[in-house]
Amino acid sequence: MTLEELRKSLEKLRDQLTLDRTVMKMDDSANNKPKLPAVDLGELHFKNRIVELIRFQKNPETAIYELSRHYRVDRPAIRIGLPKGEKKALGCYVKRDKTIYISSIDYLYDPYVVIHEFYHHLRNVTGKHRGTERHAKEFAVSFLESAVFVGSL
Ligand SMILES: [Zn+2]
Repeated sequence: MTLEELRKSLEKLRDQLTLDRTVMKMDDSANNKPKLPAVDLGELHFKNRIVELIRFQKNPETAIYELSRHYRVDRPAIRIGLPKGEKKALGCYVKRDKTIYISSIDYLYDPYVVIHEFYHHLRNVTGKHRGTERHAKEFAVSFLESAVFVGSL
């Protein structure tokens, strides 16, 4: 092998090594891509918006309107004051008149209470969502968690 041949051979090898390193780098960057969290970002921001409307904008009517539109159901009515016979609840939902009753104005701006009662409406008019208290609680908590995740709460 001549010196010239050896030089060319080394150059080729070096190019090869550089190429391999580049490929490895590309592979690394592909592997290091941040994995998207397993959440629906649209749903996350929707839920955060509902919490903000109720708690910070003090606009539960719009929150109810947007919830109803999102879940494609007719809007429930919302009233302050509990129906006769209800004394202890913070809120309640009456199927007969499709109305959410909120015990006092303070709870009108409590996202947990409003969203929890909306769940009962959703269950009532669609039958699609399971109707236990546990599910109403989980439904409302998922909105609060979204707001915490986004940073509003
Ligand atoms: Zn309930």
